Amino acid sequence: MKTITIIGGGIIGMTLAVYLDPTQYEVTVVDQHIGQATSASAGIISPWLSKRRNKKWYHLAQDGAAFFEKLVKDFALDRRIYAPSGTLILRPEEELLALAALAESRKKAAPEIGEIQLLNRTQTKQALPLLKARPTLFISGGGRLDGRAYLLHIREIAKQRNVQFIEGKAMIQKYSGSWDVLVNGQSLHSDILCLTAGPGVHGLLAPLGYQVDVRPQKGQLLSFATPFKTDDWPVAMLAGEGDLIPFANGNILLGATHENDAKWDLTPTQAAKQQLMTGIHDFLEEPNLLYQTPLSFRVGTRAYTSDFAPFFGDVSGQGILYAASGLGSSGLTTGPYIGYLLASSFNQSGQQRADFSQYSKPVSDYVRKISPSSH
Ligand SMILES: Cc1cc2nc3c(=O)[nH]c(=O)nc-3n(C[C@H](O)[C@H](O)[C@H](O)COP(=O)(O)OP(=O)(O)OC[C@H]3O[C@@H](n4cnc5c(N)ncnc54)[C@H](O)[C@@H]3O)c2cc1C
Repeated sequence: MKTITIIGGGIIGMTLAVYLDPTQYEVTVVDQHIGQATSASAGIISPWLSKRRNKKWYHLAQDGAAFFEKLVKDFALDRRIYAPSGTLILRPEEELLALAALAESRKKAAPEIGEIQLLNRTQTKQALPLLKARPTLFISGGGRLDGRAYLLHIREIAKQRNVQFIEGKAMIQKYSGSWDVLVNGQSLHSDILCLTAGPGVHGLLAPLGYQVDVRPQKGQLLSFATPFKTDDWPVAMLAGEGDLIPFANGNILLGATHENDAKWDLTPTQAAKQQLMTGIHDFLEEPNLLYQTPLSFRVGTRAYTSDFAPFFGDVSGQGILYAASGLGSSGLTTGPYIGYLLASSFNQSGQQRADFSQYSKPVSDYVRKISPSSH
């Protein structure tokens, strides 16, 4: 039996932990529960109409979205956690036809896009009554994931599979036949180390002589506790930074900001509130119906790389040190699949080294050894 320590209990780390074969691995997850992107996130799973040109990223996001069917079955996720509620795309009317054509062409490789329908003004209002009557594009396969509820649910399943949890900030000390990780003043030894700590991967690897191309990005969103029956409302995707994400029980999220200069700051700001409300204002029939309901902030730290693409895989080339980070704004879509791919490669250890090149550039493009030290 080998021991694996996973540093970072967000969506990648937890999905990885729960897919690892408990007959092969003793698994420990260390998480400091600060700034976590997963539990702050908006929850939109709908990558197909992205204008990003990075083909590897699109391939990963497409397969990540398709993976939800398996994820829902494997862990019995109910609609409170993941709901295929559909997405409404709000764009100027003259762009909708071209977007519908793009959706049709992408559906050939991604049937999970589902039904693609141009909605007229009345149909849009019926689908999401808070919006002004306007033509929109509806994609039935889009979904919403409650990141926080997902982690709580997966944690219970992981416990049943003997995964151990430690709360605290981890530091990697050294490698001498096994890894020595310091948490809460105690040493933890393990054969394999997986770093799924978002932008924290940088600080964890620096003492080992690595430079990591990953930075923190602050994201803020607003959460409204409304009296509306939102359970079956679709997600509304706007062109700017003001997507509207209805969850169950009247909860509606509005977000999110992308703040590159805020580093690790987690303070909610009035400027963000203003920006988000201004962004959505013209799309709402009566904005005060939303604005007058009780409101709270959610703030998290995303990880992003120079080319805004994620990386994951074997850092050491020796099967003992792995990292996955840089998921940016689409990590709820790609994160579970990355966790699954990593777990599958561990569960098949001894076989050929896993090849993730269809999904991302080599890890060595993002994680570089700059000074000699152990591994
Ligand atoms: C406001 C916001 C809205 C978003 N909306 C969407 C969306 O609509 N759709 C979508 O697909 N994605 C969205 N995302 C992106 C998505 O949430 C992230 O990309 C994804 O959750 C990242 O997961 P992760 O597991 O890599 O990292 P995280 O969830 O950030 O988890 C990393 C964990 O590592 C811990 N950690 C760090 N360093 C250490 C250490 N030294 N010791 C112990 N623990 C450590 C952190 O505390 C954290 O808990 C959003 C993100 C934000 C912030």
